[in-house]
Amino acid sequence: MAKCCGNTNGANGRKPEAVLLYTHPACLAHDPGIGHPESPARLRAVLEALDDPRFAAIERIEAPRATRVQLECAHDPALIDRIFSSAPHDGHTQLDADTAMSPDSLEAALRAAGAVCAAVDALIDGRDTRAFCAVRPPGHHATRDTAMGFCLFNNIAIGAAQALARGIERVGIVDFDVHHGNGTQDIFWNDARVMYASTHQAPLYPGTGARGETGVGNIVNAPLPPGAGSAQFRATMSETVLPRLVDFRPQLVMVSAGFDAHRLDPLASLNFDADDYDWVTRELVAVANAHAQGRIVSSLEGGYSLTALRESTSAHVAAMMERITPA
Ligand SMILES: [Zn+2]
Repeated sequence: MAKCCGNTNGANGRKPEAVLLYTHPACLAHDPGIGHPESPARLRAVLEALDDPRFAAIERIEAPRATRVQLECAHDPALIDRIFSSAPHDGHTQLDADTAMSPDSLEAALRAAGAVCAAVDALIDGRDTRAFCAVRPPGHHATRDTAMGFCLFNNIAIGAAQALARGIERVGIVDFDVHHGNGTQDIFWNDARVMYASTHQAPLYPGTGARGETGVGNIVNAPLPPGAGSAQFRATMSETVLPRLVDFRPQLVMVSAGFDAHRLDPLASLNFDADDYDWVTRELVAVANAHAQGRIVSSLEGGYSLTALRESTSAHVAAMMERITPA
């Protein structure tokens, strides 16, 4: 589907496309506890990888806090109140068995959701066409009323709701994290303005994401069996997810970019490589170019091998920086 016009250093004289990078130091301070896989080292690894000179065209922007109004477009007020009131003065508050808050977690969660909202605003305002949000905590397990699975607020869903509030009529979200984004599915289950499509390992946490879960025809679940690698991922994307995304004609493409389907990841059993993230990003950029004026916002979700995170994020963002035209 995608056709690359040349390498990034411009054999044809073209410069790489700029990518807006939204992040905030607070996202490094969120501490879910010693030994927790969702560690600050993850985001450090991502930011260090993007410090490479080949990413010189990246424009780094400090993420603002999401507003209460933005949060309420995706979450029940009771959940927002619970997260605000659960932030501890010291130590940790445990929201569920694997989701905890430290004193800096509320600020991190507000900046993470605010990053995606600001990226959406920037693209709608025409400042650029591509943005990557290097944030944590991740978001795609947070449902309308429950924080879970390392996630406090659902960053990508809050950003998609922001796009709808700004007048975007169709938002296409593709989630290639190894876990099913049950929260994003929950939030948009009855909302035909948003298409949510996910590849994920099954069986695996959180146990949702069966093919038969289709919402109002706007949910596309494409589970993969343990051990699946590049060939199955690319076939599933090419035969199931991408055709549905093209048919949907999204005016904005959003990506829940988890890199825990990489073969090195300790939490799951899929066998993707960094090349797969390069490939899928090119495909998604091509859809964005064809239908969404090139607009694509990606936000970091999972990924628990630091080596895989460095390689995969680099591949993902580098692919977003190349000029790619639809076939
Ligand atoms: Zn995950």
